[in-house]
Amino acid sequence: MTAKLFYDAPYAKEFDAELLSQSEHDGKFHIILDRTLFYPGGGGQPCDTGTLDGAEVLEVIEHGEEIIHITASPVEGKMIHGVLNWEKRFGNMQQHLGEHLFAGALWNLHHIHTARMRIEGDNVSIDTDIPADISAILEAESSANAAIWADIPAEVIFPDMAEIKELARKLPPENAVPPVRIIKVEGVDYVPCCGVHASSTGQVGLVKVISCENHKGGSRIYLRCGRAAYRWITSLYHEVRKAESELVCGYDGINDKIAILKSQIHALKSQNEALTVRYLKPLVDSLLSHAEVCGQFKIISHVMNQSSQDEIKHLFKLITDKDKDSIAIIAGENEDGVFIMAGCNKENKNVDVRPAFRKAIEILGGKGGGSPFSAQGWGKNSEALNTAMNEAVNILKNNIK
Ligand SMILES: [Zn+2]
Repeated sequence: MTAKLFYDAPYAKEFDAELLSQSEHDGKFHIILDRTLFYPGGGGQPCDTGTLDGAEVLEVIEHGEEIIHITASPVEGKMIHGVLNWEKRFGNMQQHLGEHLFAGALWNLHHIHTARMRIEGDNVSIDTDIPADISAILEAESSANAAIWADIPAEVIFPDMAEIKELARKLPPENAVPPVRIIKVEGVDYVPCCGVHASSTGQVGLVKVISCENHKGGSRIYLRCGRAAYRWITSLYHEVRKAESELVCGYDGINDKIAILKSQIHALKSQNEALTVRYLKPLVDSLLSHAEVCGQFKIISHVMNQSSQDEIKHLFKLITDKDKDSIAIIAGENEDGVFIMAGCNKENKNVDVRPAFRKAIEILGGKGGGSPFSAQGWGKNSEALNTAMNEAVNILKNNIK
């Protein structure tokens, strides 16, 4: 049996214990001591890590009455000295009590129940039973921080079941054997929990909501508490400073600057489109007047060197809009490879360009697809472009006949 020192001395960082057993499993070592400060995980809180006589503790699990420390290397001797990774443990204690304060506030203010919570590194996520809107979430965050500033003790108590049923925001599992461990923060929260927490709300430092999403009929809310919240705000600070420097403004001007940039981009796009259409017009006229006539159709095949996908799409659209009986195969070569497009006017129901397109893209060693009136894709073998275009035109001509 392992005595759980982490409950009696949640702020102790080192301990001495007697080795009860040690065994090797798949290159790792399972160590059982007569007592331990290593929390095995539970209630959404991850297990502790650290060292046992210098051997790295990778994982800690509870098995019946014993706590198993899984280490990377073996230990020697009868007495073992254990050291916790205190930064991680204290971070989890802050995150866990912070989560209680937030979940308690959500319950007290809005009767929103927390069905599940999990601490994963710097992230705490909680799932609620019903959707929580952003105003309720921010109100709970504000209330949790007010509880932090009031620096209220987080008491560990073992009351009788009648009191628990009356006061707890959630009931212990049905198979829980009394006495049930309750974490009580006077006036804020009263909940059964097996975790290790900060001893007063002031030590949580800060509760900050990060984001929220819909989840299984309720909400999944991500928050950070204590040092994890501080780390997040610091990274936010650096990002904001970068944005301020790029946009040449203060943090409160960033959104206005973005709005200006977006409207400028929009205007430039329209201008670019108008210019593209204007410079492509003479080419459209020339291609249509020199097109190969095949029954009622005009077949146009053309390669635009060093052109973008957008330019090719524009040229294609201008040709097939201007002459409803035109069928166009247009390709362009640039540093990304060969972009090829085949098609006709959408209203032309008698044409299917796909067989011709498939042949061309096969010769180009690429991928693509589309509908009977428009297919497109990228290829790699630019040296085979002329062959691909000729083969595609031949297939088109045969199919039209
Ligand atoms: Zn808890």
